[in-house]
Amino acid sequence: MLVKFVGVGTAVKGIQSCIVLEGENTKIAVDIGAGSIARLDFDLDAVLITHNHSDHNSDLIPLLKARWLLGYEKLDIYGVRGTKAFLESALESYAYLRRKLKFDVHETRSFKVGEFDVKAIPTKHSIESQAYVVSDGNVTIVVSGDTYPIEDVLSVECDLLIHEMSLPFGYETNDHTTPESFADLLDVCKAKKIVFVHMYPMALEVKDEILKYLRRRKDLSYYIAREGEVINTAYQLKA
Ligand SMILES: [Zn+2]
Ligand SMILES: [Zn+2]
Repeated sequence: MLVKFVGVGTAVKGIQSCIVLEGENTKIAVDIGAGSIARLDFDLDAVLITHNHSDHNSDLIPLLKARWLLGYEKLDIYGVRGTKAFLESALESYAYLRRKLKFDVHETRSFKVGEFDVKAIPTKHSIESQAYVVSDGNVTIVVSGDTYPIEDVLSVECDLLIHEMSLPFGYETNDHTTPESFADLLDVCKAKKIVFVHMYPMALEVKDEILKYLRRRKDLSYYIAREGEVINTAYQLKA
């Protein structure tokens, strides 16, 4: 599987959230925040939205429009409860598009897209949000979306956990992850490798300290994704 970190930014910097998972015959995007469409192939089988904050979904309508203009088939969109209503109400502002765009919105927690089995796990954020566990039968990837760290996500046995690390040391928040709140759950963590995304500039400023701190707390493989980076799981995770 290829894991493409199209966007690892936040609402204030960089290409916003968008991670593409590409198997033999299946390609999905998890989130599609602003800026991601410029770096994205449009031939996706599905888009999985973790939650309806604009830094995670704002290029969805531009993607649907591009696919309509290029003659693509219907796109399957997955998301939390309310995703269909959200998209329909956003499309009221673009009446000329509504009947042209081809999509189905699904709000189920367990589904299949091509060769991928997907499970959604409700997370802890300021609005309803979910993480996704994606498996091709060989490799399992977890994408947290925006969340305070929770056991349901960290305890999933997976090859790669892509987790948000929005904030640096010392922040009190129940909606996002800090090094301290993440470290508190390391005992239950079953991921073989952890990669952080969605870091606000003040977290990026101390990124080396964050990695050092976590390594001291538990000796696991942690690193920070770079925008545009691609991981080939066959070479980079199985070794
Ligand atoms: Zn959010
Ligand atoms: Zn966000």
